[in-house]
Amino acid sequence: MIPVMMRIHTEGFKESSLALEFEQKAEVFPVLQELIRQRECEFTAPIRIHLKAARIGEMVEVEGNLETTLRLTCGRCLTEFLGPLATEFAITYVRQAHGMPTEGAPAEKRVEAEDAGLIGFWGDEIDLTEGIQEQVVLCLPLRPLCREDCKGLCAACGADLNLGECDCRREHPAGPFAALRHLRLGKD
Ligand SMILES: [Zn+2]
Ligand SMILES: [Zn+2]
Repeated sequence: MIPVMMRIHTEGFKESSLALEFEQKAEVFPVLQELIRQRECEFTAPIRIHLKAARIGEMVEVEGNLETTLRLTCGRCLTEFLGPLATEFAITYVRQAHGMPTEGAPAEKRVEAEDAGLIGFWGDEIDLTEGIQEQVVLCLPLRPLCREDCKGLCAACGADLNLGECDCRREHPAGPFAALRHLRLGKD
């Protein structure tokens, strides 16, 4: 296990705000590590996180932004490209009244706070790993495109249509009703 150092010590600041910066490899985050292992995504830069934490009684408001770079495969033309991933986030942590849960019971320990859309913490230390990880996962592109108007590959010959029309198109000019025409012929 890689040691995690993304923590806020709440004793360090009372009723005022604290600015922090972290730079972490994606592998530090368990879910991202798994996605990398399954080749679902590839990070080409560390994740840089800037945040400000403000303590309000038993709650700690964490606001900030994060950025990194991903190697992506275009969902239309299969070209690989580097794409930025950046997001702003706000997470509220709330100190839990009950005693510290035992190690190895992560699901249980969060139940109460999660009911209110918050993340719980115990004692004087907030572990940011899970909250930050969730933000990264939320902005992973589901179907990345190398560019907005990517023309993709020809379904018949596989040619990259961004590089020009293929021969298939010249033989069968595709108007908006071309597919329909095929359908009708098929019924005869
Ligand atoms: Zn593309
Ligand atoms: Zn073609």
